[in-house]
Amino acid sequence: MNPIQSQYAPCPKCGSVNASKSGYTWWGGFVGPAILSHVNCNVCGTGYNSKTGKSNTNGIIIYVVASIALACVIFGGCAMLGIFQNQ
Ligand SMILES: [Zn+2]
Repeated sequence: MNPIQSQYAPCPKCGSVNASKSGYTWWGGFVGPAILSHVNCNVCGTGYNSKTGKSNTNGIIIYVVASIALACVIFGGCAMLGIFQNQ
């Protein structure tokens, strides 16, 4: 029998595998942490990617920028439609 393997990669800061999945984060709501496999270390509190064992900082930045860009496209598109309707 194989030993039970941890569900998550070790914490990049302290090396612990004792981590919990993030349900909700300020930067990604409920969807962001699910996409990035984001977990929080139960020992030191560091948030990281449970698949790669690395910090999710770059992923968070990309996610936030993409969200803002998408919002601009959606709202920009709606604003343009509004202008066309008024003409
Ligand atoms: Zn840790």
